Amino acid sequence: MAAQHLMVVGAHISDAENMAGAVMLKHKKAGWDITIVHMTAGEKGHPTLSPEEYIKMRHADAQASAAFIGANVEILPYKDAELQVTEEAAWMVADLIRKYRPDVIITHWHGSFHPDHNNTHEIVRKSLFKASLPAFKRDLPPHSIRALLYSENWEDMENYSADVYLDVSDVFEDYLKLLKTHALMRERYASFRYYDYYEALGTVRGALGGFDKAVTLMHQPSMYSYDRESGLLLK
Ligand SMILES: [Zn+2]
Repeated sequence: MAAQHLMVVGAHISDAENMAGAVMLKHKKAGWDITIVHMTAGEKGHPTLSPEEYIKMRHADAQASAAFIGANVEILPYKDAELQVTEEAAWMVADLIRKYRPDVIITHWHGSFHPDHNNTHEIVRKSLFKASLPAFKRDLPPHSIRALLYSENWEDMENYSADVYLDVSDVFEDYLKLLKTHALMRERYASFRYYDYYEALGTVRGALGGFDKAVTLMHQPSMYSYDRESGLLLK
């Protein structure tokens, strides 16, 4: 059987890693292929560096974190805080789905106070149809995913529902190392305490889920698939 493939689509570089880094590490360890798609670089998020300077650091961090996981990485050319739900953006993602052929996609829940996060959610939802319909003739053949899930992100918590608790105890140390491949977490220049939040969240979710460390996911009801026995996303 061919390896399963997990794609994580984040709005800004390090969103995918924050919210689904432990899930990616867990599934990589189980033999899955992993692809990360960053819709923007998040280049406007530094308190002193200009976007032109900061984007170089962000791209380097994205490459380092993908290498740490052993993941493919794609950085789309959209601008931080200016991402719009357009046909062009949906086709960008759809063509990546046709290229990598993921079984599962994880992205942002739309209950976010950050418009880029909500727009990423909408773009991914639109892209699934463009990826799967044979009537759309593209360079690559159509592809349908098997499950769509949303991950827990401190900015996206409005009406978020923790439907699945994944045991990530055995990859949690690596997850913390992964977070530190990003200057955002390593140098702590943001007003929000990203590293402390996600480290503590693993413990809180672990306590609630009956594991040492856990992460939660929210499912798209019509496309949900989770195997309780293996603790992985698909049977
Ligand atoms: Zn973000």
